[in-house]
Amino acid sequence: MITPVPWLERNPTYKEKRENIEGRDLSTHGFLGYPVLQAADILLYKGDFVPVGIDQLPHLELTREITRRFNGLYKAIFPEPQALLTEIPKVPGTDGRKMSKSYNNTINLSDTEAEVRAKLKTMVTDPARVRRTDKGNPDVCPVFTLHKSLSSQVVIDRVNHECRTAEIGCIDCKKLSADAIVTRLGPIWDNRRQLEQQPKLVDEVIETGAQRAGKVARQTILEVNDAMKL
Ligand code: SF4
Repeated sequence: MITPVPWLERNPTYKEKRENIEGRDLSTHGFLGYPVLQAADILLYKGDFVPVGIDQLPHLELTREITRRFNGLYKAIFPEPQALLTEIPKVPGTDGRKMSKSYNNTINLSDTEAEVRAKLKTMVTDPARVRRTDKGNPDVCPVFTLHKSLSSQVVIDRVNHECRTAEIGCIDCKKLSADAIVTRLGPIWDNRRQLEQQPKLVDEVIETGAQRAGKVARQTILEVNDAMKL
């Protein structure tokens, strides 16, 4: 009643998955209802702003539609959440499509340095740049998008110029990108190793967070029950 199935079927992310994932039944609630679960995660805490990638905007729009419908049908208890986009609103995976676990093209925070470097080596580039002597176009190259996300401005400017003039090859360019990723992930890896030695502390942090979140969620559920006269 709040979320008609056609709303979910017209979701571009769902349509994209249908086109890109073969051999799996996508007519399940797991795939179709995913944006509803996302809406619940946002609305339960009455989020005003949600940091998302650009591909998630349709999901957020669905959350806003669900919000409007609930507020109109029952009681205006939810704010309509707004998107918070970053300068690089879509991070490409190693195959050039959006980075997604469903596509098995991710560079993970849990990867080792060797894994990151190996993944970068296989990353797709400007498809028109076939030979080392071909001039490339960074604007269509996913590796360059990673540079723009994580490399220094000096490296970004260098690649932007030297790719177009074929002064730099893709292998060296990818190595520079891997260097930038490793530099950025280094402190995260260090923290992770430290936390792995302190499982009790991790449990406490999770428990404290769950208690805080649970308090807010329970209050919202009470308001929802009251609004729906349940
Ligand atoms: S040099 Fe870099 S930016 Fe240019 S096509 Fe190769 S990987 Fe992409």
